[in-house]
Amino acid sequence: MTASNTAPAMIRMEAVDKYFGTLHVLKDINLEVPKGQVVVVLGPSGSGKSTLCRAINRLEPINSGLIEVDGKPLPAEGKQLAQLRAEVGMVFQSFNLFAHKTIAENVSLAPLKVRKMPAAEARKTTMALLERVGIANQADKYPAQLSGGQQQRAAIARALAMKPKVMLFDEPTSALDPEMVQEVLDVMTSLASEGMTMLVVTHEMGFARKAAHRVIFMSDGEVVEDTTPDEFFTAPKSARAKDFLGKIL
Ligand code: ADP
Ligand code: MG
Repeated sequence: MTASNTAPAMIRMEAVDKYFGTLHVLKDINLEVPKGQVVVVLGPSGSGKSTLCRAINRLEPINSGLIEVDGKPLPAEGKQLAQLRAEVGMVFQSFNLFAHKTIAENVSLAPLKVRKMPAAEARKTTMALLERVGIANQADKYPAQLSGGQQQRAAIARALAMKPKVMLFDEPTSALDPEMVQEVLDVMTSLASEGMTMLVVTHEMGFARKAAHRVIFMSDGEVVEDTTPDEFFTAPKSARAKDFLGKIL
């Protein structure tokens, strides 16, 4: 895919540093994700990928630097923070659906509560989203009655229900049985092709090659490479990226 580097930034990180105690987990991160771009974040375990994602919707506060979403600095608290969390959809490895609510209730909860959407409209929007991720026929079941792949697609629908401007995915297929990985990647690929801005932490190299405009390689809290998938997979520059690719390919 070709990256549109001229689009305005949806996510901007400038000189971001983050520590856990004395552990320096994000080191001077400078990163811009233009609107509509799909960025895959690769790197070994412990390199800071999850912390990077969590910093963007302020699940983790940073120690210094600047993060902007759609041109606005991250709010620290209150209504604006709730608004930011709605605009920045996040999908985790664990699906985090409410066990005692149906799939449709899980998806419509935030629109009803946060957006104060009328019930009939929420049901209509929810069903359209479940249709889009291919599980409309599961709407009135409970999470435990669904496969892992279906639950993760429900989690994606739930994030989309807030009409996010950007979607963050943190290893969305890592907890799935192998036969369910593709159905989730297919939903993500279709979102990407519709122009959603996405930051995706994944070990799925097929997805990175096909759907990403750009690959960020992290190691030890640093962005070590920031390039096209083609370049990254065929001609990685750093020893650390070569070592990483040697282990996974
Ligand atoms: P990745 O997602 O690339 O595996 P993480 O962002 O989860 O990496 O973690 C980066 C580093 O920060 C690791 O060394 C990890 O052990 C550490 N870390 C992550 N979360 C916490 C936390 N809440 N408290 C202390 N250390 C943490
Ligand atoms: Mg992680």
